[in-house]
Amino acid sequence: MAILVTGGAGYIGSHTVLYLREKGEEVIVFDNLQKGHREAVMNDVPFYEGDLHDSALLDTVFSENNIDAVIHFAANSLVGESVTDPISYYQNNVSGSLNLVDRMVKNGVTNIVFSSTAAVYGEPETVPIQESDRTLPTNPYGETKLAIERLLHWADQAYGLKSVALRYFNAAGADPKGRIGEDHTPESHLIPIILESALGKRPYISVFGEDYDTEDGTCIRDYIHVMDLADAHYRALEKLKRTNESGVYNLGNGKGFSVKQVIDTCRAVTGRTIEAVTSPRRAGDPAILIASSQKAKDELDWIPKYPDVHEIVEHAWNWHLNHPNGYAKEGSVDGLK
Ligand code: UDP
Repeated sequence: MAILVTGGAGYIGSHTVLYLREKGEEVIVFDNLQKGHREAVMNDVPFYEGDLHDSALLDTVFSENNIDAVIHFAANSLVGESVTDPISYYQNNVSGSLNLVDRMVKNGVTNIVFSSTAAVYGEPETVPIQESDRTLPTNPYGETKLAIERLLHWADQAYGLKSVALRYFNAAGADPKGRIGEDHTPESHLIPIILESALGKRPYISVFGEDYDTEDGTCIRDYIHVMDLADAHYRALEKLKRTNESGVYNLGNGKGFSVKQVIDTCRAVTGRTIEAVTSPRRAGDPAILIASSQKAKDELDWIPKYPDVHEIVEHAWNWHLNHPNGYAKEGSVDGLK
């Protein structure tokens, strides 16, 4: 039986595809390549280029392959962009996922692992955040992810569609073997932006706000290695198939690092000069986001293999150093052929 990975050419999707293949799973990728990279997916993985709204193509994918589960990454995922263009977020994320779920139900596929986010919580009341905490998103991105979680809940009641929603905190790092990595255009995430500054591709890193109620005044986040996320998807799917029980899990290391601490870590790892410039706060940024991942540890036996932020940055740096232009015009990535 095969696993269909939507958004399998994206950052977290491509690392999960690689991980699943290393576990011996049969994988099919579906991606519209709007943000993803064809080069990030091994050549021998069946690849369908298309949009989640294309019902006919989804039906073809389900009928041409023996798919018993879907891991659903395909989505827009930038908080700022979602605030300025909520319609495209509702179209791509909510409407696209709705169509995927519809075609799954029609084609009798009953297992889905869904890529959710810490943004469903909004400004937390307490940290570390637990799955049972209040969900009150402060931006359309979080709203659309929460809407899909709710859809999956009701689809379970109505059609027996079983789902696991994985709420990621800050995904970071790259394949430890350096085969694939993070390449967004435009880049908005902290660690790749700092590393681009280290490479001289940017003159400095803007620190968004130094007046938060934290020890050094900058925002604190819980950075989790992308391969640990990939492993959690594998475990979530195993559990789903074994128990036939839906669930929701946070995925983080349970440890927070401030923006300044991350910049210092990048300076130590790269040995390069990285200039930091104080800038205004970015709209919608909560001061502190730290996960309690106890539930994932207890129920999925998930223990992050790369919890050390130094090592997370090392793996990201290895990718950036060897692929300073990302996947652009490089052809296939070494080792993936
Ligand atoms: N950040 C920053 N400068 C940047 C990009 C990000 O100071 O150029 C901060 C951002 O305000 C947040 C943290 O770094 O506090 C992590 O941001 P990122 O966009 O990587 O992830 P998010 O927490 O928004 O999912």
